[in-house]
Amino acid sequence: MQAAQHNKMRKQRGNGNRHAGHGSQRLTSDRELRIGVFRQPAMQTPVLVLNASYEPINICGARRALVLVLKGVARTEEEQGAVLHAARMNVAMPSVIRLLEYRRIPHQTRALSRKNILLRDRNACQYCGIVLTAAELTLDHVIPRSRGGLSTWENLVACCHDCNRRKGNQLLSELTDMKLQREPRSFSLHTSRHIMRMIGSADPSWRRYLYFESEPAA
Ligand SMILES: [Zn+2]
Repeated sequence: MQAAQHNKMRKQRGNGNRHAGHGSQRLTSDRELRIGVFRQPAMQTPVLVLNASYEPINICGARRALVLVLKGVARTEEEQGAVLHAARMNVAMPSVIRLLEYRRIPHQTRALSRKNILLRDRNACQYCGIVLTAAELTLDHVIPRSRGGLSTWENLVACCHDCNRRKGNQLLSELTDMKLQREPRSFSLHTSRHIMRMIGSADPSWRRYLYFESEPAA
């Protein structure tokens, strides 16, 4: 988080000035203000990322979205209404951004990662259903690795530590009190759209980008 902040400052003031600025009361307070601004909850607000073609492709935090806009990689399509006051400039906080260059996204082969598994499972333990933060969840091999289970979309699920301990090296067929809430599948374009819609339903400015396929007349 602070790396982005520093990069931005480096670009604006040059590398050396960052240290020279420490002696100046004004620059120090500017810096504090900006770091303070970057810590505000508004910086965590989810921002919808569109491809150059206006196709919704991702969700990122407002902080990252701002960096993309400031670097000229993306432009703001919809604003949050809040304005970031930084030294010598005011930037409207984005709610929807669009990449200026089209990026090919291989939806069918989305990377198998811890982050994407938790996203698919919406941070819910797939055995007991409890919703936790990413840090409080682990990944469980449905068929344990020790019994030949592979690290695949179909064999990995979000799992709380309690359930993970309880399950141990057993197969679900050997357990009577544990079962999967739903069949784990690979992360499809449909799944990611669904997640974007769930998050975006709170933000009316996302709707025109997310619902145009299913609600053309609305
Ligand atoms: Zn659990």
